[in-house]
Amino acid sequence: MKRRLVFLGPPGAGKGTQAFIISNKYSLPRIATGDILREAIANNSKLGLEAKRFMDAGLLVPDEIVNQLLKERLHGEKNGFIVDGYPRTIEQAHFLDSATKIDMVLYFDAPEDILVRRIINRRICPVCNAVYNLTESPPLRDEKCDRDGAQLVHRTDDVEEVARIRIRTFWEKTARLVDYYFERGILAKIAADRPMERVTQEIVEAINAD
Ligand code: ADP
Ligand code: AMP
Repeated sequence: MKRRLVFLGPPGAGKGTQAFIISNKYSLPRIATGDILREAIANNSKLGLEAKRFMDAGLLVPDEIVNQLLKERLHGEKNGFIVDGYPRTIEQAHFLDSATKIDMVLYFDAPEDILVRRIINRRICPVCNAVYNLTESPPLRDEKCDRDGAQLVHRTDDVEEVARIRIRTFWEKTARLVDYYFERGILAKIAADRPMERVTQEIVEAINAD
């Protein structure tokens, strides 16, 4: 089974949702740069403050900042991992190559109208980072996390205007990584516009294939 995984795709494609499921199923640590950056903001750190203006504008946080955060989390993960939302630029992909070997990159593909709809209805748990959707997968109790009861949060960048900029940023800066990994023979394309269980099934098949 492939255990050193990268989840690549536009915002709202379902990377975080599936990373949670696959991470639990196979005991793979999930390393999500977006979550790490939001934690830095919540902790009022200098780095968080610097990153926030890029995130609120729907732009990428500079490579030096994100690479450093990634390196700190990746350090010591010998038995596999799911890197979610990284790399997002060619420079980050080169940095990741210098830091570790990747077995498979799963590219989550879905059309823009679906992405925007999912993003504006997304709610996240600020404690455990679980992902919900008010229409597709609502919490059992009114906007409270099923696991820990924390009040769910509507991310400040999960509004339509910023969502569209983030999707554009994906096409401008990140989409070229699809070719980058395809050429290396480690890319698997996932049809991410289908129900969650179907998407999970497709990922399980891809990472267990010879
Ligand atoms: P990403 O990490 O790629 O930005 P998320 O995993 O946070 O995306 O998912 C975005 C939103 O879409 C969340 O609200 C999530 O609950 C919902 N979602 C994820 N996968 C699906 C799916 N297959 N069908 C419908 N909604 C989904
Ligand atoms: P995400 O949680 O993956 O949707 O990321 C939220 C925001 O965090 C993005 O819009 C970027 O501003 C920033 N971010 C997360 N990961 C990266 C990355 N690998 N490179 C640059 N910026 C990132």
